[in-house]
Amino acid sequence: MQDALFRSEDIPDLANARFALVAVERGIDHSPSAAQGFSYRLPEGADAAPGDRVTVPLGRGNTPTNGVVLKTGGPELLGDFPASKAKQIIKVERLGIPEPVVELARWIARYYVCPLGMALAGVVPAAVKKGTGARVRTALVRGPVPDEMPKLTPTAKRAWEAVNALPASAFPIEPRALADRIGEKTIASTNRLRLAGLLTETQIETVSTRTSMFDVGTANTSGTPPAPPPTPTDEQAGVIGAVSSTLGSFAPHVLFGITGSGKTEVYLRLLRTVLDEGGSAIVLVPEIALTPQTGRRFSERFAGEGVAVLHSGLSASARHKAWADARSGKARIVVGARSAVFAPVTRLGIIIVDEEHDGSYKQDQLPRYHARDVAIKRAQLESCPVVLGSATPSLESWHNATKADAKYQLHTMTTRPTGATLPEVQIVDIAAERKLAAQRGRPFEPGAVGLGPTLLDALDETLNDGGQAVLLLNRRGFAACVACRSCGWTLGCERCDAKMVVHTRSTKPGQAPPRGHLRCHHCHAEQLAPRSCPDCGSSLILIGEGTQRLEDDLIRHLDKAHPGLGEHAIARADSDALSHASHYFALLDRFAKGETKVLLGTQMIAKGLDFPNVRLVGVINADTALSLPDFRASERTFQLVTQVAGRAGRGGFAGRVIVQTFSPEDPSIVHAQRHDFRSFASEEIESRRAAGLPPVSRMARIVCRHVDPGEAAHRATEIARRLRADQGVRVMGPMPCPLAKVNDHFRFAVEIVAPSAGVLNRTLETLRNAGVLVSDSATAIDPDPIALL
Ligand code: ADP
Ligand code: ZN
Ligand code: ZN
Repeated sequence: MQDALFRSEDIPDLANARFALVAVERGIDHSPSAAQGFSYRLPEGADAAPGDRVTVPLGRGNTPTNGVVLKTGGPELLGDFPASKAKQIIKVERLGIPEPVVELARWIARYYVCPLGMALAGVVPAAVKKGTGARVRTALVRGPVPDEMPKLTPTAKRAWEAVNALPASAFPIEPRALADRIGEKTIASTNRLRLAGLLTETQIETVSTRTSMFDVGTANTSGTPPAPPPTPTDEQAGVIGAVSSTLGSFAPHVLFGITGSGKTEVYLRLLRTVLDEGGSAIVLVPEIALTPQTGRRFSERFAGEGVAVLHSGLSASARHKAWADARSGKARIVVGARSAVFAPVTRLGIIIVDEEHDGSYKQDQLPRYHARDVAIKRAQLESCPVVLGSATPSLESWHNATKADAKYQLHTMTTRPTGATLPEVQIVDIAAERKLAAQRGRPFEPGAVGLGPTLLDALDETLNDGGQAVLLLNRRGFAACVACRSCGWTLGCERCDAKMVVHTRSTKPGQAPPRGHLRCHHCHAEQLAPRSCPDCGSSLILIGEGTQRLEDDLIRHLDKAHPGLGEHAIARADSDALSHASHYFALLDRFAKGETKVLLGTQMIAKGLDFPNVRLVGVINADTALSLPDFRASERTFQLVTQVAGRAGRGGFAGRVIVQTFSPEDPSIVHAQRHDFRSFASEEIESRRAAGLPPVSRMARIVCRHVDPGEAAHRATEIARRLRADQGVRVMGPMPCPLAKVNDHFRFAVEIVAPSAGVLNRTLETLRNAGVLVSDSATAIDPDPIALL
């Protein structure tokens, strides 16, 4: 990243001038031309390439503004614009975003209706732009060797021979490192060679970072040599062969393999082939599944070959270093969450998207991209295969792989190579459990579900046998809300259309429960729970439960029934308990060692965990996702139950799964019980077809927000009217959002459904060019939305 500063008063030589199309880093779309970039003249003698960062004068005041070069060329880049009027670039920095990634950002700007500058800003980590951890150092290069060899002392002569024997790739090298390599104790002789003109000084930029226990990078943290890779089963070999035969060309693959069927092993084999052919690879995993356990599987297999693992626990300088390593080719495999899809690797040979159904691949702010879909686009731009793996594929990917004219190849893996069988899943009806609990003299608390007798018995049995358990409750906090015992009043947030959620620290048995601390999950407002109902003065009760309440319940139970299990016997994993990735890693470590017997948590624990001694998985309330006003409610429920069930019985012990639900007949739960993804998918796709919903169609959602509800509704109405003028799409709304007010802003949504992505895109583009649709803080345009609140 060498800087070059240019004086703008240089007199331009227009006949030979070169120009650059620049996307400026500004958050707003002013006009269609802003979406395409602005033209600038390159200073004479300056060099710039697509992907370089530039500073350009913008607007009347010529405000220096950062931007990225999209294209360089002659006057043809200007169109009708006179070359003499093109302003000159102020500064060029070699940033080195690979050209296909620049192309990708342009596609994102178009497809996701996002200002191009913001799409580009999103492809480079902030740490890289700021240069965190970067240092310029002095290094040495050989030569130029003078015609006549200077006179050298015998020591210097020996040093020069040793320097000459080094491969060209060793340079540039820092003086200290060079002395080490040629076996000299001090830099005295390299200094002498420099003075004799045999070595020349140069400046290099290096990125350094302290390594910590969370930089799973290339270190083998377990201390034991990695086990030799297993021989692929026939099923695995079939998939490896089929995907390998498409290397070198664009080919989307869906790998549908049950939990524990060895998908990761398939990825590792494919990566081996790509590395051997000199290529590089990107592996995307959901943030939450990006544990040291996952990182280690990749870095151990390719120890010494450069694996960069990007996770949220990394420091800014470590992030910068990973980016620089990927850019320079030092790291050829990049494993990371969503944004790793933009890793600046070159010679990309394959992209793997693990758990491709995961909602965390979609970014919920500008640019609202879906990393799986961006991965497919990047694979297309770079002519390489992309593998979408999951035990519960998204219906979008499933449809793409199974419909009549499917362009995606489908591969299936139905067995576990370890010989383990899928766990037995038992559905229990919460209503029946409630009666049973009352009969046993341990009734449910009012308003709460908790651990029913069936689950409690199974937990006791598991703990008595020395096993471990995972309990899923997909709601954080202590209780969903506070309510009045007699008049039904509940406490809502003043600024949002939502209940205040009860949070509290865990209490030990015997202590009085603390007075609830209430928090809004949308605007983060906080307050203390009132002592009594403000309307009628009656006492209050807590409705519904979250992970904190379940934890209290469990602590009480274990103290009584299993004393002496130690202070870490129970661990709670949710975003309140674990504010930093390191906390989560430490918790998983204690679970792996067996110190923790019961791991309870939100969906955070449903993914990617592979612990052989987990013999019981309990789902406290499978209905938390079912009741959401979202057409994907069933799909989410099926995924969650199947994924968490897959944590049981991965080792030598049979696994058991107990699912508590108020809807024991719901197809999503019944199919998950039978591990029957195919039936679930075909029934669900049929009902989506009947309703005209994705994946059979494509959707975009536009949300207008404003402090004045009339204004928000008016803008949404205008957008809906303009959309309806387009015959090709179905328009729904405007309607108040399910979450009608957030942070004092009223929200109205318009949804459009189109038969194909092309039609959807053209419709949005037309309105964007007409200035009707502008992505800004008051209007969120979300193509392929996954959150409909
Ligand atoms: P998935 O990614 O589908 O959940 P994994 O790749 O994690 O599955 O494999 C599950 C377990 O099976 C792991 O412990 C893995 O080491 C083991 N495994 C995978 N492939 C084989 C194989 N061919 N032979 C023996 N064990 C295997
Ligand atoms: Zn009341
Ligand atoms: Zn609020």
